[in-house]
Amino acid sequence: MLAESVLEGLDPEQRAVAEAVQGPVCVLAGAGTGKTRAITHRIAYATLTGVVTPQRVLAVTFTTRAAGELRSRLRQLGAPGVQARTFHAAALRQLSYFWPRVIGGDPPKIVDSKIGLVADAARACGLSLGRTELRDVAGEIEWAKVTQHRPEDYPAAVVRAARRPSTEAVDVARVYAMYEQLRRERNLLDFEGMLELTAAVLTEHREVANQVREQYRYFVVDEFQDVNPLQKMLLDVWLGDRDDLCVVGDPNQTIYSFTGATPSYLLGFTREHPDAKVVKLVRDYRSTPQVVRLANGVIDQAKGTRHRLELVAQRENGPEPVFNEYDDEVAEADDTARRARKLIDEGVPAREIAILFRINAQSETYEAALAAAGVPYVLRGAERFFERPEVREAVVRLRGAARAGADAETDGTGLIMTVRHVLSGAGFSDRPPEGAGAARARWESLAALAQLAEDMAADDPKAGLPEFVAELEERAAAQHAPPLEGVTLASLHAAKGLEWDAVFLAGMAEGTLPIVYAKTPEQIEEERRLLYVGVTRARVHLSLSWALARSPGGSQLRRPSRFLDGLTDKTTTHMPARVDRTKRRVTKGPQPCRVCGRPLTAAVERKLGRCEDCPSELNEELFIALKDWRAEVSAEQRIPAYVVFTDATL
Ligand code: ATP
Ligand code: MG
Repeated sequence: MLAESVLEGLDPEQRAVAEAVQGPVCVLAGAGTGKTRAITHRIAYATLTGVVTPQRVLAVTFTTRAAGELRSRLRQLGAPGVQARTFHAAALRQLSYFWPRVIGGDPPKIVDSKIGLVADAARACGLSLGRTELRDVAGEIEWAKVTQHRPEDYPAAVVRAARRPSTEAVDVARVYAMYEQLRRERNLLDFEGMLELTAAVLTEHREVANQVREQYRYFVVDEFQDVNPLQKMLLDVWLGDRDDLCVVGDPNQTIYSFTGATPSYLLGFTREHPDAKVVKLVRDYRSTPQVVRLANGVIDQAKGTRHRLELVAQRENGPEPVFNEYDDEVAEADDTARRARKLIDEGVPAREIAILFRINAQSETYEAALAAAGVPYVLRGAERFFERPEVREAVVRLRGAARAGADAETDGTGLIMTVRHVLSGAGFSDRPPEGAGAARARWESLAALAQLAEDMAADDPKAGLPEFVAELEERAAAQHAPPLEGVTLASLHAAKGLEWDAVFLAGMAEGTLPIVYAKTPEQIEEERRLLYVGVTRARVHLSLSWALARSPGGSQLRRPSRFLDGLTDKTTTHMPARVDRTKRRVTKGPQPCRVCGRPLTAAVERKLGRCEDCPSELNEELFIALKDWRAEVSAEQRIPAYVVFTDATL
C-alpha cells in the first residue's frame, strides 16, 4: 500500500499525528476520537515512507489483545513486522534473552498471584490474617512496588496517597519486607519484579541497554493515562536520551489508579518534552449523538479534577440509551439475555454485542441466562483460547502440514482451502453441530481458526500455510485469541479500548458501581470514570440496568448508581421492567456457594448458602469484589510464564 493512502482515512488532526513521524508527540483526547487509529496509521506511515523499519518500532499497548489487534491492523495497512506488546510481555522477552548472557543460573519462576506468598509472609511475621485481609495486603504490596516504595517507606506513602488498607500500615510493611525476602529465597519473580529487573539489567549493563536501544528507536504508547511509575521508569530506560516517543491517552479513562497508575505522565508530557507536538482530537467517530451526550453527562458530573474533553458526535442519530430496573439480578440477567437475543434476531451479529459488568463474579449469572436463551457468548479475559485441546491439536496438524511443504500450496487450493482441509482432520465441518454442548464449543474454536485463515487471505492473498502457522504461534505467545462468534461478557476494565454496536452495562447499582470498597473521593471518581469507559464502548445501542435485590426474594434493597442521578430522566426511555417471577429459571446441579460459586456438598453449608469459610452476608460483596479485582488486573496483563523465545528479537 502506498504511504499516502494510509493518510486518507484520517481527519486533519489525526493526519497531523501520523505525519509527525519523528520527535515527541502527545495526543490527549476523549473516547472514540480515533487515538488508536491515529497511532496505527502513524506507524504504518512511518514504516511505509521508510523513516523507520518495522522491526525498530515498539508499540506498547495495555492488553495482549490490544497488541494483537494493532498488529492485525498494521498488516492490513501493509506494514507487518512491528512489535506490539504489553509492558510485561516486552520486559519478559528482553529478560529471557539477556538472562543467560548477563545473569546466568536458573531463571526465576514467575508468579501471577501473590496470595500464597503473602500468606506465608504474614505467618512468618506472626500475623493471622483472613482471606480478605490477605488479598488486601497483596494489593498494597503491588501498589507499593508499582509506585516504587520500599517496605520502610510504605507507612508514610500510604498516608500521603490517602489509601486505607484494612490492615495496619506497619503490619503491611512488615509483611511486604518478608514477602520480598521469601520471594528471593525461592527464586520467584512477580509482575512488578519483571519490570524492575528488566530496568535494572538495562541500567547496570551498558551493552545490554545499547542492544535494546539499537533494536528499538521508535516508541508508541496507547492508553498512556494508565501508565504507572514502574512502567514509566522502564520506558525511560528504553528511550535513553532519545525522544521518538508518541503517547496517546484520555485522562477521563484512568481506571487503574488503584494499582498505582497515574495520568500525571500524560498531563505532564509537555513539561518533560517541551518541544512535543500536542494534538487534540474532538470528533467522536464511534458513538451516536445519543451515546455521546450521555458520556459527556457522566464526565460533567465528575468532582474535583475533571478534564473537559468534549466529544462532538460524527455519527447519525440512533436510539436513546435505555435504563432498566429489575427486582433481582436473575431477572436482570434473564431480560438482558432476551434483549440480546432480540438484537441478534434483528440482524446485529452476536460478536457486535457486549454485556459489561463491574466485577467478574457477575458473569456467572449472565452465562447461565445466555445459555438458557440460546445465545452464544465469549468470556473475555478468561478465554485461554490457545490452551483448548482442539486448538492445540489443530495447531499441531497445521504445523505438520506446513512442514510437509509445498504440495498443499501447489495443488492450487490456496490458504483457505488448505486450512479447512487440515482442520477437517480435527473434526471441522462447514456446519455447526446442533445444541450448545462441548461439540459445539469445539466446532466454534475450529471455525475461529478457519475464519482467521480467511481474514489473512483477504489481507494478503500471497500468504501461505507457513505464514498462517507463524501468525498462530505469535498469537499463542501473546494469548491473542481470534474473534469468536458470540456475545462478549467482560468486566469494564477489560473492555477498555474496545467497541461494540450494542452494549449492556449491567449491575449499575450502588455497592457495585461505585464498588462497595470505594471509600475515598478519589476512589469514587475512579468508579465514575469506569462508567464513562463503559458508556463510550457503545456505537449505537446502549442499555444500563440494575437490580434492587441480589437474589430472588432478597431483602437488601439497593438503589441505582449515584452516577446515574440526573441522567436517567434526561432520556425518554426510563422504564422499570418487572419480570414475571414465576418464569424464573430453575438452576440444575448442586447448589453453588453464594460467595465463591463452588458447589456446596455439606448440608450445613447448603443451609448457610455458602461455604463455611466464606464470609457472611455482610462481607459478601466486599469479598467478591476483592477476590475479583486482583484477578482482573493480572488476567488482563498476564503472559504465559513458559514461553521460550528462540529468535533474537527483543
Ligand atoms: P478509546 O479512547 O476508547 O480507546 P480511541 O480514541 O482510541 O478510543 P479509536 O478506537 O481509534 O478511538 O476509534 C474509534 C472508532 O472510530 C473506530 O471504529 C475507528 O475506526 C473510527 N474512526 C476513528 N477515526 C476515524 C476517521 N477519521 N474516519 C472514520 N472512522 C474513524
Ligand atoms: Mg483507543
